[in-house]
Amino acid sequence: MPYAHKVAPGSKVALSKIKPDDNGGMDKEEGLARFAKLNAELDVIQEELYAAGTHSVLLVLQGMDTSGKDGTIRNVLLNLNPQGVRVESFKVPTEEELAHDFLWRVHKVAPRKGEFGVFNRSHYEDVLVVRVHDLAPKEVWQARYEQINQFEALLAATGTIIVKLFLHISKGEQEERLREREQDVTKAWKLSAGDWREREYWDDYQNAYEDALERCSTEAAPWYIVPADRKWFRNLAATEVLVDTLNAYRDGWHATLDEMSKARVAELQEYRAGKPV
Ligand code: AMP
Ligand code: MG
Repeated sequence: MPYAHKVAPGSKVALSKIKPDDNGGMDKEEGLARFAKLNAELDVIQEELYAAGTHSVLLVLQGMDTSGKDGTIRNVLLNLNPQGVRVESFKVPTEEELAHDFLWRVHKVAPRKGEFGVFNRSHYEDVLVVRVHDLAPKEVWQARYEQINQFEALLAATGTIIVKLFLHISKGEQEERLREREQDVTKAWKLSAGDWREREYWDDYQNAYEDALERCSTEAAPWYIVPADRKWFRNLAATEVLVDTLNAYRDGWHATLDEMSKARVAELQEYRAGKPV
């Protein structure tokens, strides 16, 4: 059984039926050991992605405040080569961004070939916070689901491997994490009254998430729901989705690298042969 739940394209999502505190039937020690193994594999995979340069990866991270988007980036990508990684965090749009279509700021920072791109929040905010707080008329955000699907289809058709993770935490766990930040001076910098304010819209957000997961999980860009109340399990599940998804491309990358190696060696031999001794 995979640790994360893949949203089958076209299927219904009931977040209340998926346990945020799932531990996959193992204890933390075992989870950490499995994570270490998969994480080392991801490291090798990224090197191949980078060297082959035929594809890019786009990891989209969404979830409620405190769900662990930053922690996932820190832990899961820990051993990757920073030269090939690009993290983009999407905040409240600037005036200039708002004067364009909602995908303008997103498309600009989509990963190039060889690159492992991460979106910490994403274009999905435009059907989440925008919907919950009426920041755009209904007909505007309603049209976005299909626009998102078409945008992601374009990226996928041009070599982007898209992995979308929804970090699923419970309301109780969120409260605990918010209180922890308040009590621990070393974590207090993360505090924001806005997080408590947003918490009052919990049910609206869950509904908005369910719609986004249902309407925008496609073959080319599927959504995965990651149980995220336990940080070690979240890291394990997220890494597993990445490794499983990317493994399917490795034979192709190996073939590309083989050809590149042969061409380089031949080039060098030709150079030496042409040189007066
Ligand atoms: P944080 O992730 O804590 O740095 O917060 C970023 C904030 O920006 C969150 O409250 C998001 O909801 C908000 N945000 C991101 N994208 C958008 C958007 N397209 N429209 C409105 N707010 C957004
Ligand atoms: Mg926040």
